[in-house]
Amino acid sequence: MQKRVTDEEIKERLGKIKSRIAVMSGKGGVGKSTVTALLAVHYARQGKKVGILDADFLGPSIPILFGLRNARIAVSAEGLEPVLTQKYGIKVMSMQFLLPKENTPVIWRGPLIAGMIREFLGRVAWGELDHLLIDLPPGTGDAPLTVMQDAKPTGVVVVSTPQELTAVIVEKAINMAEETNTSVLGLVENMSYFVCPNCGHKSYIFGEGKGESLAKKYNIGFFTSIPIEEELIKLADSGRIEEYEKDWFESAPF
Ligand code: ADP
Ligand code: MG
Repeated sequence: MQKRVTDEEIKERLGKIKSRIAVMSGKGGVGKSTVTALLAVHYARQGKKVGILDADFLGPSIPILFGLRNARIAVSAEGLEPVLTQKYGIKVMSMQFLLPKENTPVIWRGPLIAGMIREFLGRVAWGELDHLLIDLPPGTGDAPLTVMQDAKPTGVVVVSTPQELTAVIVEKAINMAEETNTSVLGLVENMSYFVCPNCGHKSYIFGEGKGESLAKKYNIGFFTSIPIEEELIKLADSGRIEEYEKDWFESAPF
């Protein structure tokens, strides 16, 4: 059996990656994976070299968003080869690519998941990258902790939605970042509002300004509000997120 990955191996791989951005929320279903994918597309359109590490082993979504459900990884002399997305050639690594079947569940306890994240950090052949985006699972458990400690992110982008239930959990994620000495790059409020397709009126179904006040409370930047959009759901579900034309991160300072 291969030896466990060492801190030196991880350091060497990560040394070739200029920025590492973890996308976190604490809460599930708020749009972490969607935001990760849209951020990756944003950077790729700027001509940057981009990778995505899907660290949500129990609910991997990145392969679905990019139409890579059935892709499998290859091993080369350089290590584990990431799978390239169809339009922009974003380098993706996901646990999904190692499973025998698309619907095989990963039934693992925390330490195994943490070990596998280290394997990915130490063995994936990203090469030189400008940005590595890390899509975290919900919660503040083993996977996020391993990413914070071992991938040493440049910072985290926190994803929230305007519901009170989300805010309470997002606050835990912000506090976790603080406790692990990881800087918070800023907050993205997803599913903020809905634009009426007929009259163009913006409906703030869950209330307006929630994300901004949360960001203010923790003295972190507020980057952008993303509306609930049918177009986004359609492209996400059909694996064509790269064809989504809008860019919600134009003014993001990271
Ligand atoms: P998470 O990674 O936080 O669990 P996802 O990114 O998987 O969340 O999003 C959950 C679901 O909501 C997905 O079906 C996704 O397509 C949908 N979704 C996310 N953001 C939006 C949005 N702004 N508009 C419409 N649907 C969205
Ligand atoms: Mg997700």
